[in-house]
Amino acid sequence: MSMDGLPPLRAVIESHGLQAKKSLGQNFLLDLNLTGKIARAAGDLTEAAVIEVGPGPGGLTRALLFSGARRVIAVERDERCLEALAEVSNHYPGRLEVIAGDALKMDFASLAGAASGGPVKIVANLPYNIGTELLIRWLTVTEWPPFYASMTLMFQREVAERIVARPGSDAYGRLGVLAGWRTEAKIAFDVPPQAFTPPPKVTSSVVHLVPRASPLPAEVKKLGRVTEAAFGQRRKMLRQSVKSLGGEALLIRAGIDPTRRAETLSVEEFVRLTNSV
Ligand code: SAM
Repeated sequence: MSMDGLPPLRAVIESHGLQAKKSLGQNFLLDLNLTGKIARAAGDLTEAAVIEVGPGPGGLTRALLFSGARRVIAVERDERCLEALAEVSNHYPGRLEVIAGDALKMDFASLAGAASGGPVKIVANLPYNIGTELLIRWLTVTEWPPFYASMTLMFQREVAERIVARPGSDAYGRLGVLAGWRTEAKIAFDVPPQAFTPPPKVTSSVVHLVPRASPLPAEVKKLGRVTEAAFGQRRKMLRQSVKSLGGEALLIRAGIDPTRRAETLSVEEFVRLTNSV
């Protein structure tokens, strides 16, 4: 038995035949100390409803429940995992709801709404093939403040660096502008490949994002168009890269030197540029 009174994850994987599938981005965490560390990075969970994407055999799910999460709502696409997750649910009566389905088709705001009372926190060891897509969706929700109080998410280190990147760095791009505009994002800690079964090729990082109470006002779609144009030709001067949006005249209107390059602009300047289009 593990410290939570459930069988060790290796035994769970074996008894339910949960050999990892690459197509589903399955790299499992079997060390409950590590999953406990991820749960702690999400802060106090005792009042929280946690939304987890991709519980798999349930390692992180168990850590979240063991850390006292009031409720966990977990969305899993791989039906092979459902039996193992039902055992976790029985062990923590009334606290774990497993939704079988594709996270890309979920309305997370409604899921959160149904878990009323207390803050909603998103915590996940995301499948790498859909991680960025989900993060962008959560960062660009229309309602602000959003339905979640924080997000604590595992990414490949290279993606994590793009999320927390500041102007002037090579990693700074559309993702950094979006995350920096609406949240305060930081890398909590790195996780080496050997911590996963099977090990991925690269190091991973847990990123913790907290929504800003009042991000500078900007229209999210327009900001997307501006950053797409600006970073689409990141080595070029802005007067060239944002030509289709108004070029030099637009930049002068926004009070930005047209000879600058996208990677030198702060988030505030991107917002100003967006609001001048
Ligand atoms: N949380 C487990 C852990 O930490 O060991 C598993 C993490 S594994 C990196 C990603 C999980 O996401 C897998 O269980 C996989 O089946 C699931 N998954 C992949 N694509 C999904 C999707 N579109 N919707 C929901 N879950 C998905």
